[in-house]
Amino acid sequence: MATLNVKKLNKSFGTTSVFRDINFTANEGEFVTLLGPSGCGKSTLLRCLAGLTPVDSGEIFLANKNIVHQPVQERGIGMVFQSYALFPNMTVEKNVAFGLKMQKLPATEIRRRVSEALEMVELNEFSNRYPHQLSGGQCQRVALARSLVTRPALLLLDEPLSALDARIRRHLRDQIRLIQKELNLTTIFVTHDQEEALTLSDRIVLMNKGNIVQNGGAEELYTQPADLFAAGFIGNYN
Ligand code: ADP
Ligand code: MG
Repeated sequence: MATLNVKKLNKSFGTTSVFRDINFTANEGEFVTLLGPSGCGKSTLLRCLAGLTPVDSGEIFLANKNIVHQPVQERGIGMVFQSYALFPNMTVEKNVAFGLKMQKLPATEIRRRVSEALEMVELNEFSNRYPHQLSGGQCQRVALARSLVTRPALLLLDEPLSALDARIRRHLRDQIRLIQKELNLTTIFVTHDQEEALTLSDRIVLMNKGNIVQNGGAEELYTQPADLFAAGFIGNYN
C-alpha cells in the first residue's frame, strides 16, 4: 500500500526554522492538497519528501518503509515543479524517456512506456517536438508524463498550474485529477490557491508559517475553520 506517513518532520535553514513537527498522512490513492500562503514552507516540505533537500529530523514512511535517508532516485517518487524544467535540447520523447534510460531499461520497454505516458497526457502526436515548440500547458503535460513514466508510488506536484493562463489551468487541473484517479496514485498537490484546493482535493492540509493549522475535507475547512487564520484564508477566495 503506497500510503505516505510523515512523522515529526523538522527543517531549518541556518537558524531559521522553515517547518516544525509536521505530521500528516496521505492514504493510498488519496489526493491531498498542501495549501498555504507564499513562504509558509510548502515547497521546502515537498522537496524534503522527494529527497532533494535533507530534513533535520523526523521520518517519512512510504508503503511502510522509512525513506528519509534514501537517495532521491530510490524513493519511487515523481515530482512536477511550477517551472517545467524540461531539457530544451531534447525532444518530448527524449525528455520523457530520460529517467528510464537512467534506470537502464531495455529500449523496447522504454518506447512502450513513453508512448503510454504521452497517451495519458494526450501528447502522442507531439513526441518529436522540442520544448520551445510547445505551449506552457503542453510543457507541463510533458513534465507530468516524465514523472508518470517512472510509475511512482507517490506523485508530488508543486504549483504545477500557477504559470498557466486560466483556461489551460482548468483543463490541466481536470486532466491531472482524472489520471490520478485512474492510476489510483497517492498525490500531494501544493498550491496557495484556495479555490483550486477546495475543488480538487480529497483532503486539505492547511499550513501557516511552518505549522499545520488544519487537516480535513474541503467542506470541513470551509464550514468549520480551526482558527482565525483558517477562516480568513479559506473564506477569502476569489
Ligand atoms: P512556499 O513554497 O510555501 O512559498 P518555501 O518552502 O519556498 O515556501 O519557503 C519557506 C521559507 O523558507 C521561506 O521563508 C524561504 O525564504 C525559506 N527558504 C526556502 N528555501 C531556502 C534556502 N535554500 N535557503 C534559505 N531559506 C530558504
Ligand atoms: Mg513554493
